[in-house]
Amino acid sequence: MKKLIVGNWKMNGSLDANAALVTALQQDASAWHCDVAVCAPSVYLSQLKSLLQGSRMTLGAQDVSAQESGAYTGEVSAAMLKEFGVRYVLVGHSERRQYHQESDATVAVKAQRALAAGITPIVCVGETLAQREAGQTEEVVKRQLAAVVHTNGHCISEIVLAYEPVWAIGTGKTATPEEAQQVHQVLRAQLQAASQHADRVHILYGGSMNAGNAASLLVQADIDGGLIGGAALQASAFLSIIAAAH
Ligand code: PEP
Repeated sequence: MKKLIVGNWKMNGSLDANAALVTALQQDASAWHCDVAVCAPSVYLSQLKSLLQGSRMTLGAQDVSAQESGAYTGEVSAAMLKEFGVRYVLVGHSERRQYHQESDATVAVKAQRALAAGITPIVCVGETLAQREAGQTEEVVKRQLAAVVHTNGHCISEIVLAYEPVWAIGTGKTATPEEAQQVHQVLRAQLQAASQHADRVHILYGGSMNAGNAASLLVQADIDGGLIGGAALQASAFLSIIAAAH
């Protein structure tokens, strides 16, 4: 399957910086062998929708409300994202789980809202360092994915899944390709048990992926792409990762 490389800009950017970054990325686009998306802060979706017009890059958001509409101050609905040309939305990123107390059940409903609006949720799962050291990695990621399977049933084959060990995010520590592949294999098997179309689900790796380690991760059998934070903010680093994805 064609690999998918997704940049997560987190709470970074400005009108000027976004335009400069997208312009630098586009110059190289004809050589890409993979699909590419960038997940921008919601206030910039309108700007990005224009910047990406006619581009090979697609647009993503970083979160979506678990509610459909109504009195939920500060929230952005899936239907609103759809109006701005959003193709993907991150749900259950560890920073949302950690700082906004998002439960597995909430993440599952967010994925459902996205799917209902015709947006592909990129469901993030991953263990903390303490959980890894306690030998709980597989149990944790399986529990996180099980909630999404339970709520979304056969639609599970329409999601993108991202394995992001929490201890590897923004830390410069990366799971080894073998460690990552082992978890991806477990997640693939869980998807296969839930859907006969599981083989078409992209399972991305995320956590300090960079120009130096991308190729060795992306060559693994069940690593179908990457979710990139820090390195997605520098055109040269992000382009090197894209070049490693074929
Ligand atoms: C992320 O935020 O999803 C991420 C993987 O960040 P980083 O690449 O900076 O570790």
